[in-house]
Amino acid sequence: MTTNVLPAERALGVHRVLAPAGVLPQAAERLDADPAVGPDEVRIAIQRLNLDAASFRQLSEACGGDGPAVRSAVLDIVRNRGKVQNPVTGSGGMLLGVVDAVGEESPLGLAVGQRVATLVSLTLTPLRITDGLAGWDGRSEQVPAEGTAILFARSIAAVLPGDLPDPVALAVLDVCGAPAATARVVRRSGARSVTVLGAAGKSGCLSLAAARAAGATELTGLVRDDREAAALTAAGLADRVVVADATDPLAVAAAVGTPAEVTVVCVDAPGAEHGAVLATAEGGTVVFFSMATSFAQAALGAEGMAADVTMLIGNGYTPGHAALALDLYRSTPGVRALLDPRVRA
Ligand code: NAP
Repeated sequence: MTTNVLPAERALGVHRVLAPAGVLPQAAERLDADPAVGPDEVRIAIQRLNLDAASFRQLSEACGGDGPAVRSAVLDIVRNRGKVQNPVTGSGGMLLGVVDAVGEESPLGLAVGQRVATLVSLTLTPLRITDGLAGWDGRSEQVPAEGTAILFARSIAAVLPGDLPDPVALAVLDVCGAPAATARVVRRSGARSVTVLGAAGKSGCLSLAAARAAGATELTGLVRDDREAAALTAAGLADRVVVADATDPLAVAAAVGTPAEVTVVCVDAPGAEHGAVLATAEGGTVVFFSMATSFAQAALGAEGMAADVTMLIGNGYTPGHAALALDLYRSTPGVRALLDPRVRA
């Protein structure tokens, strides 16, 4: 552990960075995952990891769908990096567990024995796995796991709601930044029309529900195929459901038709940037929630199309994001209809 770190730097976890020197934990190659807690830290006994959808898709594809190979790849990442951060997608996920040690100076207000979900990314969370992920077949984003994780003074965690199954709470909390960002953009801009790419997925269906609750009245959901179209139509979250490959910009533009004031990108595959820009009206806003988003593709693509759109990176944190997403899940049957099968599959 690095010593001589200022308290404000410790709060960000700088003392846990092993390499390279001078970066914050999220950008670090390696973190110190020693389970001994510092005075301002909290230790979580891990019960379940939720791998980020883009990361899981990349690992599965790279391993040809071989579950044990995916499990080995995740174990290698944790062993080498002291955290879960996919080196290709750069993304991580979050976790669920029990608070088992609280440093006397921790400002997080957590108590030993509380069951919590971390709301900061696994990409900056020092983490050790002790069970070899023996209870996981490598075929799902949710990973039963034993080990320890460390929270810093500026980390955030939510006490798990008692009324929802763990896998559901974890899945909703993992993507809770998407509905919060969507609601904020719709409310601030007064937008009426919103298109969501990847609308039948977890963040997609929550974003549609959030847009509706924030006042949008023309909701379009773009999905990959007829099966997802039928599910989204039955869920009743969108006024219009269209089918296209989100990575084919011309197909997206043709399917969406009149561009919307706000487009939210919730696909978990790379290559959706240009379609999203084409699907957005002049002066409108694109929220890139997907971790598979390329800054260069988005920026150069918009420039190349002379598209006057504001492009936002979907910050995973917005004040109140966890409560908003959990409430949307509880209050919206269509969200539950789309999300539950994905979580329990
Ligand atoms: P999800 O539940 O797997 O949903 C993704 C949806 O996109 C699925 O319906 C998927 O269809 C669809 N899709 C994939 N490729 C497509 C294509 N080419 N054309 C049309 N649809 C396509 O994923 P999620 O958990 O909502 O996560 C979505 C994205 O948010 C991921 O990139 C994830 O990394 C990111 N994320 C960001 C943050 C943040 O803080 N910004 C936090 C968490 C997650 P199929 O199911 O048929 O493949």
